Amino acid sequence: TFESKLPFSAFKTDDKGLIPVITQDFKSGEVLMLAYMNEEAYNKTIAGGRMTYWSRSRNCLWLKGETSGHFQYLKELSLDCDKDTLLAKVLQIGPACHTGSKNCFITNLMEKEHNSKDPFHVFQDVYQVIMDRKLNPKEGSYTNYLFDKGLDKILKKCGEESAEIIIAAKNPGAEELRYEIADYLYHMMVLMAECGLDWKDITQELEHRK
Ligand code: AMP
Ligand code: ZN
Ligand code: ZN
Ligand code: ZN
Repeated sequence: TFESKLPFSAFKTDDKGLIPVITQDFKSGEVLMLAYMNEEAYNKTIAGGRMTYWSRSRNCLWLKGETSGHFQYLKELSLDCDKDTLLAKVLQIGPACHTGSKNCFITNLMEKEHNSKDPFHVFQDVYQVIMDRKLNPKEGSYTNYLFDKGLDKILKKCGEESAEIIIAAKNPGAEELRYEIADYLYHMMVLMAECGLDWKDITQELEHRK
């Protein structure tokens, strides 16, 4: 069981005695939902280790997951600078939203640019497409052509592409190099998929060396 460093009375609540709680996936950081706690919900959450809120619509204590089974196991709890908002990092079972969505923020209102997200997301995205081709081959797919030809063909391409990087780097300007590095990284991902490595394996190795 848990212990909190502060009692509920240390928080700044609204006039109904509620404090908003932002709930986040403890591993991915994904924001899952926002709900409210009163003192009893807070104490139950700390004592039981499962997120318990105050339902403003139903006017009752609400153990998240009680009917759906989609419990949230508390991993970390923080208070914001002016003591009026809690942040809970949780292990989420199933989707957080009662609509079945992973998180509650289902209506996109605006998005500045697609790439304003983490630019490194593209590595995951492309790798996922490559993996998907491996599992569900697609007519006319170059990736499937490589998989069909096998490891030696993939290795030959990796060798060629790395040589092209060297040539491009010797030529003036960076545009050709940009293209060749992208080409190389794609073929490297095909090799990773062929050999059963994913980006997590690679990033963990790099992280490990820091
Ligand atoms: P659950 O706590 O997941 O068993 O769901 C019980 C009820 O709480 C649902 O039928 C919804 O009315 C409500 N509920 C569950 N999850 C959410 C959520 N993320 N946001 C708002 N309401 C929710
Ligand atoms: Zn602050
Ligand atoms: Zn605040
Ligand atoms: Zn929801």
